[in-house]
Amino acid sequence: MQDKAISLHDVDLSLGRGAARVHILKGLTLDIAPGDAVGLVGPSGSGKSTLLMTMAGLERPDSGRIIVEGTDLAALDEDALARFRGRRIGIVFQSFHLVPTMTALENVALPLELAGNGEAFERAEAELQAVGLGHRLHHYPAQLSGGEQQRVAIARAIVPNPAILVADEPTGNLDEATGQSIIDLLFALKRDRGATLVLVTHDLNLARLCDRTVRLRSGRIEADPTSVSA
Ligand code: ADP
Ligand code: MG
Repeated sequence: MQDKAISLHDVDLSLGRGAARVHILKGLTLDIAPGDAVGLVGPSGSGKSTLLMTMAGLERPDSGRIIVEGTDLAALDEDALARFRGRRIGIVFQSFHLVPTMTALENVALPLELAGNGEAFERAEAELQAVGLGHRLHHYPAQLSGGEQQRVAIARAIVPNPAILVADEPTGNLDEATGQSIIDLLFALKRDRGATLVLVTHDLNLARLCDRTVRLRSGRIEADPTSVSA
């Protein structure tokens, strides 16, 4: 096993064109240990989502190094990066991002089908059962509650057995009780599968459950206490 699940060194990243170009991540250096749960916190606009997408290989930095599970992301072309992401990194969004024309089962099977896995539907059904949705396999996203849609999205994220699970405000569109059940699910998955969990959150109760919190301000790391559990 690698001694670091994710390692960013002096990462700079800008997005947008022309006058709208924004320098978002500024010389960011951060190591995340395998199996840790890390909470990314900080004011709106501080770069949390951009940092999460950058460590998940969805944004390329302007400069700096990103090593995920021992692989330097800069060494991968777009196809190889997409395959790497598909196998190693599960991504959960605030607004679920399910395919509306596909059932829960089809949504969860999709990443495995794209990877040519012959057991995509069996595996997808098992994961939907694991997230408590065995009775909603053939429902479409519009026929599911927000909490159920997020469970489908989590099943889709974990179905390839990724080493890393990242989540951007996964409870942001849910009421408190539903959000709590999603938090419980994410932490149970991290525990049971030994995955590294990185999540952006405004919720201090959620941040407190993490092994570590990293606070961003204006694209820089402000404080990185080893633990917030005390
Ligand atoms: P957070 O998740 O902490 O709220 P973001 O990472 O979404 O912050 O955004 C950080 C800053 O970068 C914000 O000021 C935002 O407006 C800007 N930004 C984000 N995405 C883009 C983009 N594609 N083009 C230009 N600016 C962007
Ligand atoms: Mg954000």
